[in-house]
Amino acid sequence: MATTYETRKMAVPEVHPEHKEYWEAAALGTLLIKQCDSCGEAHYYPRVLCPHCMSDNTKWNEAKGTGTIYTYSVMRKGTPYAIAFVELDEGLRMMTNIVDCDLDTIHIGQKVKVAFKQSGDQDNPGPFVPCFTPIKE
Ligand SMILES: [Zn+2]
Repeated sequence: MATTYETRKMAVPEVHPEHKEYWEAAALGTLLIKQCDSCGEAHYYPRVLCPHCMSDNTKWNEAKGTGTIYTYSVMRKGTPYAIAFVELDEGLRMMTNIVDCDLDTIHIGQKVKVAFKQSGDQDNPGPFVPCFTPIKE
């Protein structure tokens, strides 16, 4: 039997001042990633210092929002959901949720695209969090 996705309440992330731009872009449906001007590497989760070379010479870049499932795990306690590491086309990996799909069809190497979901609930709405959903082939 297919497992259908139900909306799971997502925890409201803590918004730090250095991530203000990131969450503002997310609310508009744009995924931002940090790129380092010193070594050229992109990273996620956004940090002030580049984790590759410790330079503070980092800038925001708009990601295409598409990638591939690198690894995943389906949680079946309570409302089932899938967490995954998605490798973005820009080459970095981010931990995320796979949403809006049959959880039994998720597989490694699957092409996905970003889908922003609002965290929290009606009483306490939080920022939009980047999740991923399979690209229909
Ligand atoms: Zn760097």
